[in-house]
Amino acid sequence: MNKRLGIVIFFWIFTLGISFSLGITSAKKHRDAMLLATARTFFDQVVLTRKWNSLHGGVYAKITETALPNAYLEDPERDIQTTLGHRLTKINPSYMTRQISELADAQDLARFHMTSLLPIRPQNQPTPWEKAALLAFDQQGLVETSQLHPGQMPGFIYMKALKAEASCLECHKSQGYKQGDILGGISVSLSQVPTINLFPILFMHLAVGSLGLFFILFYDRKLINAYETIHHQALFDTLTQIPNRRYFNQTMDTEFVRSQRSKTPLSVIMGDIDNFKQYNDAYGHNAGDVCLKEVAGGIRTSLTRPADFCARFGGEEFIILLPETDAPGALHIARKIQKNIHGLNIKHKASDVRSFVTLSMGVTTEEGFKTSASEIIKKADTALYKAKANGRDRVEVFLVS
Ligand code: GH3
Ligand code: MG
Ligand code: MG
Repeated sequence: MNKRLGIVIFFWIFTLGISFSLGITSAKKHRDAMLLATARTFFDQVVLTRKWNSLHGGVYAKITETALPNAYLEDPERDIQTTLGHRLTKINPSYMTRQISELADAQDLARFHMTSLLPIRPQNQPTPWEKAALLAFDQQGLVETSQLHPGQMPGFIYMKALKAEASCLECHKSQGYKQGDILGGISVSLSQVPTINLFPILFMHLAVGSLGLFFILFYDRKLINAYETIHHQALFDTLTQIPNRRYFNQTMDTEFVRSQRSKTPLSVIMGDIDNFKQYNDAYGHNAGDVCLKEVAGGIRTSLTRPADFCARFGGEEFIILLPETDAPGALHIARKIQKNIHGLNIKHKASDVRSFVTLSMGVTTEEGFKTSASEIIKKADTALYKAKANGRDRVEVFLVS
């Protein structure tokens, strides 16, 4: 895997990771908002019920095991007897809240706790969490507060302040409260906290992640293919599929510097098809193209060393680069090429040299390293010119005049 692809995949996984954690955070926020809304509804309902009770100055219920007279209610008419002999006791808002809370708790719905910093009934003492909340209501002007898993406990707790209304003061006036004062609060505890279902978020991220990864790998492969095609087109001749002049120039520069450094000979052979114009005229341009491909193949198969390099230099001209090859070696290769081109036996009825396609070649070998790469090419071209002038289908070596 290349570095660029690694970076893209890293950022994709990183983005997915962020999205996943945002998804979980958002799901938690949604769950917490629902818990808060549920607790508020319970609270409002209890307050409404209390209000109804207080509007009627308390209501009477039959004295039973679960509705015993309220020991903390100072009222001469707390317990009464009907004309039919039934014994009734007065249920005030606080007592009613307690009764509803016990009912809700038994059904595992919610638990209400009416509490105060100065409770009339000792059992209404606040828990440490409720006490902290009541102090915050008193000192910081807060009206409600809530917490998930208070004190590492499971569940959710909500508490809202209760303000003294005229009807409340019947019982609470003796404690010094006046209308509008915070009497205390009612806490609502929900034991059932829904767990966050990670599966849909995880599944969606895995699906989107895999799809994204597939596209990244797919388009990376396409990009590599496109790059390789462009790279190939830039360096190789489209007709003969051997390196082009640009590729030759790059290789020539490199090999020239290398031969200078290592003080090894460097040979160049310049080849040109004889009477190729006549070939095109005789057989047509398409046949000419086929001929060029065959000659390129013939040259290529004549080279055996890995460093030997041949390219299409121009129309029907080829150039061969032979690193670490001295003059006799280069001449040997040129003769081998000539023999192999003869061996192709490509018919050429319009040639004034032979009845088949032939190649003229100019050879030069650089050992003194006083020249430049372009100077070497020029020498090979001069030798080629000589081969043409001397009758074609031959190899001439550049000689210093
Ligand atoms: P000489 O023996 O002196 O080299 O003569 P020549 O006819 O080979 O050389 P000349 O320079 O007169 O003509 C070269 C011809 O090569 C002309 C051109 O139409 C042909 N040619 C160059 N490139 C291509 C090619 O890609 N395909 C084909 N079919 N012909 C080409
Ligand atoms: Mg030519
Ligand atoms: Mg030619």
